[in-house]
Amino acid sequence: MDQQFASDNYAGICPEALRAMEQANGGHAPAYGDDAWTQRAADAFRTLFGTACEVFFVFNGTAANSLALASLCQSYHSVICAEAAHVETDECGAPEFFSNGLKLLVAPGSGGKLTPEAIRRLATARGDIHYPKPRAVTITQPTETGEVYTLAEIRAIAAECRALGLRLHMDGARFANACASLGCSPGEMTWQAGVDVLCFGGTKNGMAVGEAVIFFTTPLAEDFDYRCKQAGQLASKMRFLAAPWVGMLESGAWLRNAAHGNRCARDFAAAAARLPGVEIMFPVQANAVFLKMPEERLEALRGKGWRFYTFIGGGARFMFAWDSREERIEHLLSDIAQEGLRPS
Ligand SMILES: *Cc1c(COP(=O)(O)O)cnc(C)c1O
Repeated sequence: MDQQFASDNYAGICPEALRAMEQANGGHAPAYGDDAWTQRAADAFRTLFGTACEVFFVFNGTAANSLALASLCQSYHSVICAEAAHVETDECGAPEFFSNGLKLLVAPGSGGKLTPEAIRRLATARGDIHYPKPRAVTITQPTETGEVYTLAEIRAIAAECRALGLRLHMDGARFANACASLGCSPGEMTWQAGVDVLCFGGTKNGMAVGEAVIFFTTPLAEDFDYRCKQAGQLASKMRFLAAPWVGMLESGAWLRNAAHGNRCARDFAAAAARLPGVEIMFPVQANAVFLKMPEERLEALRGKGWRFYTFIGGGARFMFAWDSREERIEHLLSDIAQEGLRPS
């Protein structure tokens, strides 16, 4: 099909990830992560983050988030999240399921971003035995609305978490886009800012499949391998989950891919903002652009074959992947512009 911008997971596999898969396919290797590729990928993460973190490879983001949160909580605990958080709106109850009952506490009016005040309000609202005990906070970086927490914001949230005795999890399904956006190191955005565990997304970054769960507070990783196995997330041919990471991290493709997506989003948003009747809904700080347009205009775009989601605030979401092409973006813009010229 022609290139679409409905999601960054419509894109294929980037050359660096594919090449590493091919190289990993060069013969036999031990199973279940006992191979050289898995070791090399975990080491590449330790080099990238500049710390002795514990690294695990799982198939998708729902598993990464759910299992990471389960490792922070007992079944009677709760996790504070924003209204738009993927764990709340798009994981079919997996975080609750894998932890045998934890409750997500959604901060009212939080949109995509949490604040220290919202966290404190929720964490201290109830202290009695009848309410699930707050144990962790999860933030999405960049957020589901394509905004990026600054380092100062993450540090402030982490400080509040420490004061309240809460662990801090980061859903980084598009973590690379946040790094490219802020221009800071992965270490600065995570363990140096106070993040305990990160889910680092590979799929939307250009891999076929795979996310890494990275524990900076390493005692929390105890028995995480068993948790993965029980959840059906231990790959027997682990080298094929791990090798693409070697290709991505050692070549720098992880950051190049993300920077490209961000640049496309920025350029697209700048051009769309000049079109009459089109409103940019959220600050464009990563690879997502949300456009507010009348419903009949959205319908006309769909009629022209464009695909997009409208699940946040009714606007059309456009996501830009590692392979987004300028002529396709121009084509989309021109179709949006034409729709704007029609009398309604
Ligand atoms: C895509 C995404 C995930 C992971 O989703 P899966 O489909 O389970 O891989 C997690 N969090 C956010 C914010 C996402 O956008």
